[in-house]
Amino acid sequence: MAQQELDLFVVGAGSGGVRAARIAAGHGARVMVAEEHRIGGTCVIRGCVPKKLLVYASRFSHDFAEAGAFGWSAPATSFDWATLIANKDREIARLESVYRANLQKAGVEIVMGRAVLEDPHTVRLLSSGACVRARNILIATGSTPNHGPIIPGIEHVISSNEAFHLPELPRRVVIQGGGYIALEFAGIFDGLGSEVTIVYRGDNILRGFDEDVRTHVRREMESRGVRFTTGAHVTAVEAAGKQYVAHLSGERKLEADCVMFAIGRHPNVSGFGLDAAGVEHAEGAGIGVDAYSQTSVPHIYAIGDVTNRINLTPVAIREGHAFADTVFGGKPTRVDHRDIPTAVFSEPEVGAVGLTEAEARARFDAVDVYKTTFKPMKATLSGRNTRMMMKLVVDGSTDRVLGCHIVGHDAAEMIQVLGIAIRMKATKADFDATMAVHPTAAEELVTMREPTERYVRKMAE
Ligand SMILES: Cc1cc2nc3c(=O)[nH]c(=O)nc-3n(C[C@H](O)[C@H](O)[C@H](O)COP(=O)(O)OP(=O)(O)OC[C@H]3O[C@@H](n4cnc5c(N)ncnc54)[C@H](O)[C@@H]3O)c2cc1C
Repeated sequence: MAQQELDLFVVGAGSGGVRAARIAAGHGARVMVAEEHRIGGTCVIRGCVPKKLLVYASRFSHDFAEAGAFGWSAPATSFDWATLIANKDREIARLESVYRANLQKAGVEIVMGRAVLEDPHTVRLLSSGACVRARNILIATGSTPNHGPIIPGIEHVISSNEAFHLPELPRRVVIQGGGYIALEFAGIFDGLGSEVTIVYRGDNILRGFDEDVRTHVRREMESRGVRFTTGAHVTAVEAAGKQYVAHLSGERKLEADCVMFAIGRHPNVSGFGLDAAGVEHAEGAGIGVDAYSQTSVPHIYAIGDVTNRINLTPVAIREGHAFADTVFGGKPTRVDHRDIPTAVFSEPEVGAVGLTEAEARARFDAVDVYKTTFKPMKATLSGRNTRMMMKLVVDGSTDRVLGCHIVGHDAAEMIQVLGIAIRMKATKADFDATMAVHPTAAEELVTMREPTERYVRKMAE
């Protein structure tokens, strides 16, 4: 390839990189993007999208179990993992081609293969050895699973990447981790019929979420049959034929057909040439950037998971768009990282936005908490042993709703809309003034009259 001078070289065609490349090209920039795996990145290929498809698959078992109480009788059901994976792969391939076509339509040149930084303005394409010069470089290389310290038998451990391509549904799964990826896969495997054990080093799952969410999700998952071993970690994995033995701290052992780790992800910068380009970065911490995603080298920017700010697809997309508008659109744009609604597609589902109760109590002098748990209407007929949880955290001085936390069916759908209210600084009085939609679970959000807890900080004497 001849030496070229581009306006922008984007490394990584994932959520953030694709958006940045398209918008920059739309602003008239000459853009090239390199992708070493598949167009679409983690979210499309081995993250949000395939995960949600598997979540849908896993929830049919609950529907089948409840259908009888509503008068349905159906022949015994059976599940075929190979069909699910083949259909999921077909959909992912379709989406990948849509992403590719959109890039091409925008006039972005795509190169498949790994790209590394050679110097502050040069990118080397490892597939051809060619060097490409660019006036600006955007690092959008995402993150990769982190298995933690090397333990004996680590080669037998899979990450979420491999979980999407297992040859068959494992009968018994041990998942180490207590974050959203661990819990989502626990729900998937449990719903599809596997025996699932979560091993977690801490004392409770979903660190960073509201305490009531953490307790409620765990209790609900336990009632669905997921086992939890907390305060422990996997010290070794031994292969025994096609099966494995996971050795835990405290001398315990768990037999499994699959051992998966979901204990965190690392910014994807290893061997990428950040030092050659002079980009400052702290080991394992992500590339440091300012509010405009600019690195320590003024014409090199970084967005998405590789910056380890808030590692979610919509955030990476927004950061990519803001970067392109800032650098090529003449419209300097910062991304507001506050009050980002988020969901965990576990079973039951979690939706959360804003402050947890603990965060609010640390920052505000007066905090009112409105909390309710109730049996969802569908479960009254089916007899399913489940409860939903909803919680509003309110500034007791101004009445502003600071946080909202939901566990149960459609929590993710609800939190998207509640995110608007929280961003608009809605008060509890605004919630109360909103007419309920009946009969729904969400109506509880506008009908919680009295605080269940009220905290007032005692002034230092
Ligand atoms: C199992 C799982 C489930 C998830 N579920 C959700 C969810 O439900 N909702 C949500 O919002 N987020 C979810 N996420 C997170 C989400 O996928 C990421 O936050 C998002 O993909 C980050 O986008 P990105 O552009 O930063 O990186 P990515 O989408 O990871 O894209 C980076 C791309 O760069 C490529 N690349 C890396 N290095 C190079 C190189 N040197 N040369 C060429 N190409 C390179 C990679 O192959 C990759 O395609 C999930 C993640 C996982 C793992």
